[in-house]
Amino acid sequence: MEKAKELIANAENLAIIMHTKPDGDTIGSALSLYYTLIKENKKVELLCDDVIPSKFDFIMPKCGLSDADKPKYDLIVSIDCSDVERLGKYYDIYRKTKNTVCFDHHKTNTRFAKHVVLRANYASTAELMFEFLEYYNRDLIDKRICECVYIGIVTDSGGFCYPEVSSNTHLIAARLYEYGINANYLYNKVFRSKSMKRFKLHMRAVSRARFYNDNAIALVCFFEKDFEETNTDISDTEGCINIVQNIDEVKISIAVTEAGKDCFKISFRSIEELDVSECAGVFGGGGHKNASGCKVYGPFEEVVERVVKAARDIL
Ligand code: 5GP
Ligand code: MN
Repeated sequence: MEKAKELIANAENLAIIMHTKPDGDTIGSALSLYYTLIKENKKVELLCDDVIPSKFDFIMPKCGLSDADKPKYDLIVSIDCSDVERLGKYYDIYRKTKNTVCFDHHKTNTRFAKHVVLRANYASTAELMFEFLEYYNRDLIDKRICECVYIGIVTDSGGFCYPEVSSNTHLIAARLYEYGINANYLYNKVFRSKSMKRFKLHMRAVSRARFYNDNAIALVCFFEKDFEETNTDISDTEGCINIVQNIDEVKISIAVTEAGKDCFKISFRSIEELDVSECAGVFGGGGHKNASGCKVYGPFEEVVERVVKAARDIL
């Protein structure tokens, strides 16, 4: 924390990198830091090698994302990124920048940054980011910054439900209320925002759900054809896996999403002590005990066989 504070305080020209396939945590945490640092008149650019889902437009700065192609920063801060693959095309710039700090809460963090601020027991990076911002300069914290932190906490904790949620999570949320946030409004913005086209995409995936091991394992899949025919994209798959994961008998669920020829993005979800970061780890990915991800290459049915085996192996 101390080193991160020193590096950030001394930097004039920074970039903040969110992970690919950005979620509420990486976006909310990055924006809370962004809105803090621009109050100090620092030059700050936001980078992400994927588009920001439109439901977050209301909290994004007007200037939006930057697109850097060469290293030009005093410091780069990566947010919620557990390994270099999560930086996407910005890994190259990251690699060539002298000072790098990573704020994260993934136990699988590979410690690729020069300085790592890691709280593997936290439900979100946003929780850590709020603590950092208080430590950095609490006078800079305002309502908008707190809204960003809340978005990170509420999304990554599944609405304060996941096992990593602690009294600290709630204490920080309580502090955010003191800054005047409208939690109900923010919750609705990020959770009650399912478009009809997304619903139709989810219907397709759910209608061909497969079950294994007496329904202990569920699998849904998305093909590029589904995105074309429903006018959706890969970011619209979010949340669908929970539909099967919430079935009583299901212990582990898997979403397989076509992301190019013979390339599939895999999501794993589990309950209780079943650690799906091990399943993702088999394929070079990672994440949390109950939510993890990776990429697997090969023909669809072969990929399915391999990911289901990885799930069976931890049952
Ligand atoms: P999701 O299934 O929603 O994409 O991701 C669930 C969790 O797994 C997230 O916390 C995310 O950080 C992690 N995750 C997803 N994909 C990957 C990946 O390709 N590599 C790693 N290391 N983690 C991933
Ligand atoms: Mn996170």
